Amino acid sequence: MAKVLYEKDIQQEVLKNKKIAVVGYGSQGHAHALNLHESGYDVVVGLRAGKSQKKAEEDGFTVKSVADAVNEADVVMVLLPDEQQTQVYNESIKDNLKAGNAIAFAHGFNIHFSQIVPPEDVDVFLVAPKGPGHLVRRTYQEGAGVPALYGIYQDVSGNAKELALAYAQGIGAARAGVLETSFQEETETDLFGEQAVLCGGVTSLIKAGFETLTEAGYQPEVAYFECLHEMKLIVDLLYEGGLENMRYSISDTAQWGDFVSGPKVIDEGTKARMKEILTDVQTGKFAKGWILENQANRPQFNAINAKENSHPIEKVGRELRELMPFVKQPLQNKQIKQK
Ligand code: NAD
Ligand code: MG
Ligand code: MG
Ligand code: MG
Ligand code: MG
Ligand code: MG
Repeated sequence: MAKVLYEKDIQQEVLKNKKIAVVGYGSQGHAHALNLHESGYDVVVGLRAGKSQKKAEEDGFTVKSVADAVNEADVVMVLLPDEQQTQVYNESIKDNLKAGNAIAFAHGFNIHFSQIVPPEDVDVFLVAPKGPGHLVRRTYQEGAGVPALYGIYQDVSGNAKELALAYAQGIGAARAGVLETSFQEETETDLFGEQAVLCGGVTSLIKAGFETLTEAGYQPEVAYFECLHEMKLIVDLLYEGGLENMRYSISDTAQWGDFVSGPKVIDEGTKARMKEILTDVQTGKFAKGWILENQANRPQFNAINAKENSHPIEKVGRELRELMPFVKQPLQNKQIKQK
């Protein structure tokens, strides 16, 4: 079994006298900066002027330009959107890194796909929380944490692993467990997981179920509750105790339906297509398409996004959620507005 590390396994001294620049103050950035600060570390936030800057200042941080923050820091964590990182790296980070500094990422995309080529005299590591930034923050405040992967791309100081682990502990991840990976494994599994299962898989499954029911004449409200709203209740059971726990809680009728119909929905053909998706991730084909899409100012991304947001499930969902104010936590409201 892979070795999972916890707080008792980690030494923090290596990071204690270092200045950490958190570059970006979005979903991950705000969580890393606040958690590190409350764990006793010296944090400066690097940003361009804008909404995030105001928020970071309200949270009590000194905010500097990316160049200035990197210049005064020993450890630089890059928490910009992946598709912006290369440009900001070239313009503001590269020339301000000094020999012996460390540069770190929460996702391996730009290092693994050679969009960022770091200098040879700095440590390069990865601390990738396996959860959304707002949960990295919330669980830390609750005394818990979101598990994280760590990986080393370049170890110049001889301490890169210790640095990565101390950093992971600083954001609270070692309360939940920290697991070693490589930039390659993190990048490929993260991209595959979000495409085939977590984001792409789940949204397509929900939409197909909703469309099947409404096209058969059932009320969209009923189809919404059945295919989307209940998803969270089922996922909570999976999260707490795996498939067995979920199946224990549902009726035996539902469990029998799960056994006979699940494999008809997700069959060998689906798995073969998942393998194609994985191949496109591994060969860099997906990465190349996404990099080019950004260079073209996202024509396809924007068109698909507009179409998706007007799907009937979204319309009925907005109406129903208005009537269930308890569904929308204040945090989620804020996140949706910020988008
Ligand atoms: P985000 O979009 O929420 O936040 C990005 C931040 O960067 C914002 O504060 C924005 O103002 C700032 N920014 C954008 N362009 C900038 C520029 N040109 N100059 C200066 N600042 C700029 O991003 P995020 O979702 O937190 O993702 C950050 C990293 O974390 C990515 O590598 C991502 O893959 C990784 N990650 C994210 C999550 C998640 O929960 N969202 C989970 C795991 C890993
Ligand atoms: Mg520096
Ligand atoms: Mg992920
Ligand atoms: Mg991802
Ligand atoms: Mg039911
Ligand atoms: Mg049961």
